[in-house]
Amino acid sequence: MKRDTGQNREITRHWRPATRAVRGGTWRSEQGETSEALFLSSGFSYDDAATPAARFAGEAEGMTYSRLQNPTVAMLEERIALMEGAEACRAQASGMAAMTTALLCQLSAGDHIVAARAAFGSCRWLVDHLCPRFGIEVSVIDARNNAAWEAAIRKNTKVFFFETPANPTMDIVDLGFVCELAREHGITTVVDNAFATPVLQRPMEWGADVVAYSATKMMDGQGRVLAGAVCASHEFINDKLLPFQRNTGPNLSPFNAWVVLKGLETLDLRIRRQSESAVKLGRMMERRVARMLHPGLPSHPQHNLALRQMEACGPIFSFEVEGGRPQAHALLDALELIDISNNIGDSRSLMCHPASTTHHSVGPEAREAMGVSEGMLRLNVGLEDIADLAEDIDGALRAVGL
Ligand SMILES: *Cc1c(COP(=O)(O)O)cnc(C)c1O
Repeated sequence: MKRDTGQNREITRHWRPATRAVRGGTWRSEQGETSEALFLSSGFSYDDAATPAARFAGEAEGMTYSRLQNPTVAMLEERIALMEGAEACRAQASGMAAMTTALLCQLSAGDHIVAARAAFGSCRWLVDHLCPRFGIEVSVIDARNNAAWEAAIRKNTKVFFFETPANPTMDIVDLGFVCELAREHGITTVVDNAFATPVLQRPMEWGADVVAYSATKMMDGQGRVLAGAVCASHEFINDKLLPFQRNTGPNLSPFNAWVVLKGLETLDLRIRRQSESAVKLGRMMERRVARMLHPGLPSHPQHNLALRQMEACGPIFSFEVEGGRPQAHALLDALELIDISNNIGDSRSLMCHPASTTHHSVGPEAREAMGVSEGMLRLNVGLEDIADLAEDIDGALRAVGL
């Protein structure tokens, strides 16, 4: 294995973002392959007994076992770290493996965590159900309200946990304010940046400590594999994350890592185009639906904040119809091109009804509190021709009398 320029931080840190996304992290074998090699190997062998001894002792670099490190996975980790501007990154088996690892690797019984009320259903499950089972106290707040973060801090607060934009309410969290507040109180911020990706928003530039991803979404970008990642400082990764990950094993498969490496090469192009299409479609639909929730449109109450911290607002937005679940389901059933699917980040346009799918497990009361109404629909805008998408949406809106 030969380290290419892509593994040399002295060189790669001078590269601009799109170059990092294509070449960052590349590691070439003696074959000189241009596309990253796929190392489907759980174990590794050694020329002599001293070699593994040195590697296990941390005195020499090199592979030992794929739960600890794998060359293809390491390429992905280096590429995501470079794109994020993070010292280090570790890939995880899924977005939820990333969130669970990022939280549990640093929390203990007796600690307190403040979490955003509006969040992906499984992220809410972690804070509502898993953390309390292990004696971790939780406060769930309206994360749009800066004063609420301040008011929730206790002596034992260890972590602030939120996503921005939030799934599916599109709430925006003031990254600069919340990260600075956390710093002042010695609290670690964990930001779920799945909706934005490092192309559109880099929370570490605002002072975030840990940035976690579902790479299943925009990073893969074509709906193929589950993957996740956690970015942080060397200190956090080495002292907190790695002891947890290496012994509990939420590792990403090398095959899935390879697919995401290929996805990252086109992320910049895809997300900019999909973000543009999302703004156009949102604008077109705005007058015909009861409520449009798109941070890229001036009608969003946090539009200015979104533009301050994001380069564009991403391919996903939500909207509401007045007729509740029956009208929302009828609208989905009237679509001809756009798929009914609860996935996001795909190159295909997908629409779902969060209350009966992604946020079903949250329960009706918590759904209402976080603003996931019965009439809410969430659209992931794909790479199809926007005229075809507009026609499909127009037809579905007409079919339900809008
Ligand atoms: C999808 C998603 C997750 C979970 O990711 P998986 O890869 O499905 O495990 C976490 N957070 C957000 C914001 C998501 O959209």
